[in-house]
Amino acid sequence: MNKSEEAEKKLSRLKKRIVREKKARAEAEKLLEEKSREIYQLNQKLHEEARLLEATVINAKDGIVITDADFDNDGPKIIYANKAFSHITGYDLDELIGQNPKMLQGVDTDRGVLDNLRESLYSGQSFQAELKNYRKNGIPYWLDIGIVPVKNDDGKVTHFAAIERDITQQKNNQKELKEKKEQAEAANVAKSEFLANMSHEIRTPMNAIMGMTEILNSSDLNKEQKENVEILHNSSRDLLFILNDILDISKIEAGEVKLEYVSFSIKKVLEQSVELFSGMAKEKEIKIDWKINKEIPENIVSDLGRIQQILKNLISNALKFTDKGTIEISAKKEKQSKNNKDIIYVEVKDTGIGIPKEKINQIFEKFMQADASVNRKFGGTGLGLTITQKLVGLMNGEIGVESKEGQGSVFWFTLPLVEASKEDTIINIMPYKQEYNVNKKELSKLHILSVDDHPVNQLFIRKLLKKIGIENVDQAEDGQQALYRLKEKDYDVVLMDCQMPNMDGYQATKTIRKREKITGKHIPIIALTANAMAGDKEKCLKIGMDYYLSKPIRMRDIVSIISNVIINKNSMKS
Ligand code: ADP
Repeated sequence: MNKSEEAEKKLSRLKKRIVREKKARAEAEKLLEEKSREIYQLNQKLHEEARLLEATVINAKDGIVITDADFDNDGPKIIYANKAFSHITGYDLDELIGQNPKMLQGVDTDRGVLDNLRESLYSGQSFQAELKNYRKNGIPYWLDIGIVPVKNDDGKVTHFAAIERDITQQKNNQKELKEKKEQAEAANVAKSEFLANMSHEIRTPMNAIMGMTEILNSSDLNKEQKENVEILHNSSRDLLFILNDILDISKIEAGEVKLEYVSFSIKKVLEQSVELFSGMAKEKEIKIDWKINKEIPENIVSDLGRIQQILKNLISNALKFTDKGTIEISAKKEKQSKNNKDIIYVEVKDTGIGIPKEKINQIFEKFMQADASVNRKFGGTGLGLTITQKLVGLMNGEIGVESKEGQGSVFWFTLPLVEASKEDTIINIMPYKQEYNVNKKELSKLHILSVDDHPVNQLFIRKLLKKIGIENVDQAEDGQQALYRLKEKDYDVVLMDCQMPNMDGYQATKTIRKREKITGKHIPIIALTANAMAGDKEKCLKIGMDYYLSKPIRMRDIVSIISNVIINKNSMKS
């Protein structure tokens, strides 16, 4: 190859290289341009995001504050705060920057919350709480504060960002609502107390009216007079039932009902409860029966008075709403499904009018009666089932009903089953009706001390006792006088009112029993109370009284109890 050929070849290679390099450069430039565009777009995006974030933070309604994370030199300082934060706290931004946020705390700031806050921040955790802080002008405000740690790429906390919401208004509303609720509750308790007091007050004259009509009824009257007295007697009895219901529900709602646990035979309670209504059932030609499963222990521990009241309410309803057929009361032992504990399951089943489906869920409500026209015929207040339900609830039991209109109803309740221990004193449940063969001569020999502060009651008791042949009756107006009389003279029986001024019947009985520890005697004390609530009986018996009669006292009850006293006395002699 000659020189020119060689030079030509070189030139051609060079040209090719230049073309290749040009191409490569063009490609590189293109790439660069693309990358620059990307970077530019990214930058734009970041810028836009930052702008939006900034606008959000600046204009947020919640206060936003950023501090450093320097715990030395008096703790983290504010490096940024938004307008809202300045507005909430009342400080200008330049007054805030460089300060520790604790400048906002004051006397009522919860120290416990602050401790938690500090602990969270130290350990790099986020924190959320409600806190009371103080504005620049000293007025406190409530805030809902959320703080998050901000970490760098190495995971080190460099800042804290806090969002604070002023919840003062919300807190005030809550407080106001709570106060209003408390006021309403207090008013409700006051109302219940008023009702309880009022019905108690009305009972005293009502008892006198009923007692006197009973005495009147047993005197020589012509047919018309007898009918009139009977109407008077029945109306006052109905009024007393209503009063008792109002008294019961008021006491329950005022939270005044305390349970009285005693040991007794549940079998005897069923027997006695059925016996109580056997006369009425006979009149309506309805069969009434009871049965108890042998698995239930002989003696149990529960609130005797409440169980009697529950049974009385359910059985009286069954009788009221049944015109033919049977009423069956049964009790068995069961296991509670949720905790496998023993319970008593009691059922009162009737073949009466039943309850319409649409009413069945409401009949435990106050004043609720399934059928107004039916109820007009039968009477009642619509409180019985409410009281019953509340009593069962108080005793940790359950209550329910199944019913078919026109076929009958089954009301059931359960109660915890606790067997009485051998050492327990078992309350003696007296059969409702007991025939006593006590002659008038024996009664006439008795000396009785009647303790009651109410003159009408005293008059009534004297008349009642005179009717049954007891004329030797002394009176005492209160417990103190009773103690004095008992020192002076030997009595056979004390009739003791419970609520009296100076010294009440409970205190007097306690003192009498204390004195008797020295003398070795035991005078029978019969409690007479206007207290309708169950539980009173147990209280009287626990304190040392021997028998219990709740007002209005009926002639046959007082005869049966005094006869009992004589029988006991005679059996002790023999
Ligand atoms: P009342 O004083 O009206 O009997 P309760 O609270 O005891 O009040 O009962 C509420 C209502 O439930 C009754 O008025 C009646 O409509 C219905 N009821 C209760 N027990 C029975 C029953 N055994 N059979 C049919 N209806 C009943």
